[in-house]
Amino acid sequence: MIEENVKALLSRLEKGNCFGEKVTLVAATKTRTVEEINRAINAGITDIGENRVQEFKDKFDGVIGGNRHFIGHLQTNKVKYLIGKTDLYHSVDRDELVEELSKRSKKAGIVSNVLIQVNIGNEESKGGYPLDDAFSVFLRLRETEGLRVRGFMAMLPAQGTEETLSALCKKMRALYERAKEEDPSIDYLSMGMSGDWELCLKNGANMIRLGTAIFGERNYS
Ligand SMILES: *Cc1c(COP(=O)(O)O)cnc(C)c1O
Repeated sequence: MIEENVKALLSRLEKGNCFGEKVTLVAATKTRTVEEINRAINAGITDIGENRVQEFKDKFDGVIGGNRHFIGHLQTNKVKYLIGKTDLYHSVDRDELVEELSKRSKKAGIVSNVLIQVNIGNEESKGGYPLDDAFSVFLRLRETEGLRVRGFMAMLPAQGTEETLSALCKKMRALYERAKEEDPSIDYLSMGMSGDWELCLKNGANMIRLGTAIFGERNYS
């Protein structure tokens, strides 16, 4: 099941997004066991992403490889557990977190790769900078020691027509391109989960984060 899902997804992603750009598939591993994650990696998954610091710590030591992403809300007091172990932070959503990541990265003598999270649907329940602030946040983070901005991340609202959701994706893509003009090393637009990844790829995402589509329904009990 996991193996078949991974193979089908990777073959579907070969043609890239709507611009023919390479798409990175990040397996969202929350609630999944080390064994399940390793099966996905053996089937071809190159990138894995966790939401919870505790699970990241407990599980990722036993995982056989893969680039490690942190994709969930990150409390500042837990940054210390992730520093030096995380290839890309997707969820940089507030200044307090920027400061902590910068401070801890400098102290460890490393540069941490980050995406700026944008609250594209202006939803109370979601983190992220407002779209209107995101470009100036990007300019500021570029100058922040210990950090290297690689792009942007967003989660689409669960509700919405194809048209309204596509319009939100296009705004994210425009932001990404504006930043890339300023800094060609910007290379990721992380947008798309199991329910909406096809729509996101049609509108210019080049990194998607899939859990259910790889591992099946989550069981939180
Ligand atoms: C859980 C999660 C995903 C994957 O969700 P699915 O709907 O299972 O694909 C992607 N991104 C984030 C931030 C998540 O928390």
